[in-house]
This record gives sequence, C-alpha cells and structure tokens, in this order.
Amino acid sequence: MMLPSILSLSKQLIRQALQPGNAAVDATVGNGHDTLFLAETVGAAGRVYGFDIQAEALQAARRRLEAANLEGRVTLFKESHHRMAECLPAEVHGRIRAVMFNLGYLPGGDHAIITRPETTVPALEAASRLLAPGGMMSIVLYTGHPGGTEECEAVLRWAKALSPRRFQTMWVQLPNRNHAPSLLAVEKRREEPET
Ligand code: SAM
Repeated sequence: MMLPSILSLSKQLIRQALQPGNAAVDATVGNGHDTLFLAETVGAAGRVYGFDIQAEALQAARRRLEAANLEGRVTLFKESHHRMAECLPAEVHGRIRAVMFNLGYLPGGDHAIITRPETTVPALEAASRLLAPGGMMSIVLYTGHPGGTEECEAVLRWAKALSPRRFQTMWVQLPNRNHAPSLLAVEKRREEPET
C-alpha cells in the first residue's frame, strides 16, 4: 500500500515540525508508543512531556521508555491533559513544537476510561496556546466506542472555530471504512498572512 495509515501519517506530520533539541507533548500517553516516538525524535537535547490520567498507562509507557533507555528525556504527569499549561515549565510555553493526541480508551485497558469532550476541548485550546509558531498538533479521533462520535464532533467544532490567519488545519478520513480513525492536523502559522 502506498497510502499511509492514520497513525503513520500523524507521525510523518509531527516529524516535519520536530527537530532534535525541541520540546514536545504527548497529551494521551497510553501505552507510550507516541511518547517513545517523540523521545526518539527530539534526541538527547530535547524534552517530552506526557499526560495520562491512568497510573496503569504511565507504568506501561515508563517500561517502554526504559527498555529503549530514553526515560531521561521524558517527564510524565498523572494529570488530565487540560491542565498541561499549569504543569509545563514556563520556559517552554510558546515553544512546544509538537503535540500528539490519540483519543479514546487505553488499548488493553478499561474501555470505560475514555477521553471526554469536556476535558479534550480545553486541552486542545491549551495546546494551541503552548505551541510555537510553525508547531504541529496531531489529533487521532475514534467514533467506534460510546461517546466517540460526540467527542469527534466537539473537536471538529473547536477546529472550525480556529482563526485561519493563525492556524492551518486538515482533517483526513477513510471514507470506505466504518468507524475508522480520522486525523485532524493543526499547524500554527509562523506569520499571519497579509490581508
Ligand atoms: N498514544 C497512546 C499509545 O501510543 O499507546 C494511546 C492513547 S489511548 C488511545 C488514550 C489514552 O488517553 C488512555 O490511556 C487514557 O487513559 C488517556 N486519557 C483519558 N482521558 C485523559 C485525560 N483527561 N488526560 C490525559 N489522558 C487521558
């Protein structure tokens, strides 16, 4: 297949924005696959901040990072992602080059613990403020679980309200599959376009 999967497309977009030495956020750590990807991409001089509300997820992610010997590049918070601005050090505010959200439930975990629009949308808003000019956010959305469609709709409402002068957005869907994940990408413009 030549078309990338939604997850690999999200990584391709993040890779374009993220350089060694940069700071990045994994807003939904889960089993730590994206956290590990971000830690590899920012290199030894970079920093990754990760958020999850489940201790089980953070333990799995920590084990994954330790197996790769990359835990020293990552700070994990057992906090809801809508609190990311309060948790991140002031020196990285406005300097975050990439933020990844992978919504829904923890694979292999409790399917009743899901991301919810009332915290997801404030987290997206916080992330959009923390992002550096030229920075990228990827949001992988799922509709196959109870509450998923409502969350997807709330996220798209948030994205549609973003100023096109400040943000470029793109929504990638797989139209011939039921309940396939979709990808929302949000790029913060380096400069506002002239009128
Ligand atoms: N990116 C992860 C990976 O690579 O394994 C998968 C993430 S999983 C689809 C979604 C995660 O979001 C779950 O681990 C869940 O606990 C977490 N979550 C749910 N609500 C959250 C919140 N308010 N803040 C941060 N994480 C949350």
